[in-house]
Amino acid sequence: MLKIIVAALLVIAQLCACPLSAKQEEAYYPTPSQHILTGKGYWETPMNINNHQAVWDMLMQPVTVVKGKQKSQQVLYKEPDSNSEPVGDVTRDSQGLHVLETRDDGWSLVETYSSSFHDSKVKAWNQLVQGYIRTNMLETVKPKAKYGLVIDKLDQRMYIFEDGELYDVLIISTGLANERQPYNETRSGEFLIVSPVGGFEVEGLNAAMGLRFNFGDILHEVPHSVRDGKKNYDKYEAVLGERASHGCIRVQRKRTPKGTNMTWVWNKLRGRMDTKLVIWEDLKGRQLPHVDPSTPLYYNDQGGQNYHSAEICYGVREKFLPLKPFTYGELGDEPYKHLTPCPYCVPPRRPEQIDEINNAHK
Ligand SMILES: [Zn+2]
Repeated sequence: MLKIIVAALLVIAQLCACPLSAKQEEAYYPTPSQHILTGKGYWETPMNINNHQAVWDMLMQPVTVVKGKQKSQQVLYKEPDSNSEPVGDVTRDSQGLHVLETRDDGWSLVETYSSSFHDSKVKAWNQLVQGYIRTNMLETVKPKAKYGLVIDKLDQRMYIFEDGELYDVLIISTGLANERQPYNETRSGEFLIVSPVGGFEVEGLNAAMGLRFNFGDILHEVPHSVRDGKKNYDKYEAVLGERASHGCIRVQRKRTPKGTNMTWVWNKLRGRMDTKLVIWEDLKGRQLPHVDPSTPLYYNDQGGQNYHSAEICYGVREKFLPLKPFTYGELGDEPYKHLTPCPYCVPPRRPEQIDEINNAHK
């Protein structure tokens, strides 16, 4: 009898440890598509970064792309007829499509986020559209194994997966749209990295180590300006972790404790074209989960404004290392109350910052 009671208590304890009910879980982590929820691909996988296995499976699934040159686009049609209205733009070679129906008449019904840019005829800025395309224009590509990237617009982080594991997290900026420039919004969806374009300059803004994944949308280091021969990153690093770009994805330059930054990404990926990069849309209703209060954090008890995710951090001078531990749950207390998250080691956001993001997405 005692055994049964103990077993029952264990089951109850496990149930209580689960932070979300199934219904809440669905609301927190919707899938990109509302159609055909059977596969393991991008469109069917819930946007839950904590489920590493599901995310890895998704990153390794084949991608359906439109055949052709990586700096060209194809329209999707409203009807299975090339004289019908165009409803969306797709970048050839790199942009993934969700095939909803393969028809007998040579056409397929697909969905994707429209890659409409400022000069596109179709003005469906980052809209999830459904349309028709000729089936013989499509091909299936198996992504390169080893690495996969998840960009989450909701938390402005890039998650790097290596060999099935979450390897590291970097702070990013995706596109900041406004009324005049709605096309600045980074287009969501799944993509293949197709070209190591390297450094480029646009209107005095220098971006190093660019990797092309969607025509004009490029993954690159946080930009810098050059004054008197010196690189200055201040202006653009100040807004990392927030939307700020014209559509490109800006990636952290400062090294995490593992030595990860855009230079690391460039060195690993520039020779690995067809690595998959997915972008999760910050759909209304999506929420960031709260952080376990027992999560260890670190600080410099001799000064410094930041809290850290690790005992050793490149953002702190060596004489102050190792840093002193405390917990996430103590962030509201002295002397941790005024500390801000370190831009090197990417600790979790403060609870009030998480609330702010969540309230804006209710
Ligand atoms: Zn740090």
